[in-house]
Amino acid sequence: MDDFLTGLPEATVLRDPSDLEPFLRDESHVRGVLPLAVVKPRGPSALRELVRRAKAEGFGLVPRGAGTGKAGGCVPTARTVVVDLSQWPGDIAVSAQDLSLSAPASAPLRDVKAAAEAQGLFYPPDPNSWESCALGGTLATNAGGPNACKYGMTRHWVLAVDALLEDGEIHRFGISSVKANAGPSLGQLLIGSEGVFGLIVGATLRLTPLPREHATLLLPVRRWEDLLDLPGRLCAAGYQPSAFEFFDPAVLAELRAHGPEEARRLPGEALAILEFDERGCTAESFLEGLLDLLGPMAESLELASDERQRKAIWAVRRMTSAFLKERHPGKVSEDIVVPRSRLRAFFEGLGRLGAPCVTYGHLGDGNLHVNLLAADKTDPALLERQLNGLFRLALDLGGTLSGEHGIGLAKREAFLTLSDPAHIRALRAVKRALDPCGIFNPGKVI
Ligand SMILES: Cc1cc2nc3c(=O)[nH]c(=O)nc-3n(C[C@H](O)[C@H](O)[C@H](O)COP(=O)(O)OP(=O)(O)OC[C@H]3O[C@@H](n4cnc5c(N)ncnc54)[C@H](O)[C@@H]3O)c2cc1C
Repeated sequence: MDDFLTGLPEATVLRDPSDLEPFLRDESHVRGVLPLAVVKPRGPSALRELVRRAKAEGFGLVPRGAGTGKAGGCVPTARTVVVDLSQWPGDIAVSAQDLSLSAPASAPLRDVKAAAEAQGLFYPPDPNSWESCALGGTLATNAGGPNACKYGMTRHWVLAVDALLEDGEIHRFGISSVKANAGPSLGQLLIGSEGVFGLIVGATLRLTPLPREHATLLLPVRRWEDLLDLPGRLCAAGYQPSAFEFFDPAVLAELRAHGPEEARRLPGEALAILEFDERGCTAESFLEGLLDLLGPMAESLELASDERQRKAIWAVRRMTSAFLKERHPGKVSEDIVVPRSRLRAFFEGLGRLGAPCVTYGHLGDGNLHVNLLAADKTDPALLERQLNGLFRLALDLGGTLSGEHGIGLAKREAFLTLSDPAHIRALRAVKRALDPCGIFNPGKVI
């Protein structure tokens, strides 16, 4: 292998096993195998050469952003080189006239959002990992987050994508305008493709004016099932929360008992965080209408009185995933979706399944993080049955087995088994057309 990568231009190459070790995992429960090398490209000639050598020598290229993924998408499979985009050059540039922002894949999402905000503009995608993930990773996974229930997912905010394809060249798909209809969109095909069609090196994103008002509410409830019809009732009554998150009683109890200071004060048997960000959402008339709709549930409602309180509420929500992982390192975390009108049916079905699990997440769009905390202590065959039961339940209710984390390696078997065969055939045909030598992220997704 040494020969294969010798003299690679514009790149840092790591080969020492101790340097490769950190690249074996992401934030999922999946562990990869030792890659042949890790390459950090700094220019197009590195990518061109990598593609040429990958084809000639028969090794795969595994794209990697910040490694915060939860599906094992960036972990190396056999005979692969990890392509870590963290040194890919480029600046973040905002165009207030076009309401757009261009940035390299290496840009931390945190910096992308801050650059927009500095000009009074807003890039909505907000995965709870927004302070640590890279823009390229969010594009490749079509990341969602709390405010997807109002603003949609990453793909709804991408105007153009710059991507390396199997010819070794970087191509641009899309323009700096929301109107672009010259044939099917290859750019959109790359969003959410988890690196199996090519490698994203940059993008032009859509922006919108920054919301100036936020009404952030803590809604504690005694019977947590009372929350289940609320997302649908709010929408039907014309309210569109910019976030509607929840913790079931078990997650809330654990946060209260072992979480940080702010978590220990959280009220209720179960708890929802509701946020609105439209103009007028802090006006009395808006809040009165909301109280009417909530009825007796509103008894213990708390409104964040200032930005400091708002941030404290969100800090607890955003640390929940890492907190549970630290306490239960062997857990498996799923992210199924059901339409919000089927939430009650989902939890009834989950009860019947009898799998020991706790749930929190994005109730507002039906995207639930179902965590099997003792997965590592469960017989593997039983665990597989429990997970398949969970996925089937979501599918039977018109949902899907992943709302935001993607398929990667973690859910590949279930995805291939449970999907419509025509869907898989079509995806594989696209893969063969775009990547005939199978060099991009081999063994993942399809
Ligand atoms: C605490 C925590 C909270 C999270 N909350 C959310 C959430 O609310 N919503 C959500 O959607 N996700 C969430 N995630 C998951 C994760 O952060 C997102 O999937 C994120 O988009 C991954 O970005 P990354 O840069 O870390 O990508 P990586 O983990 O490095 O890679 C993810 C996938 O994208 C591919 N990829 C990466 N970069 C490129 C590229 N440039 N070109 C082509 N393919 C590429 C990889 O091969 C892999 O398949 C969370 C993770 C953690 C740890």
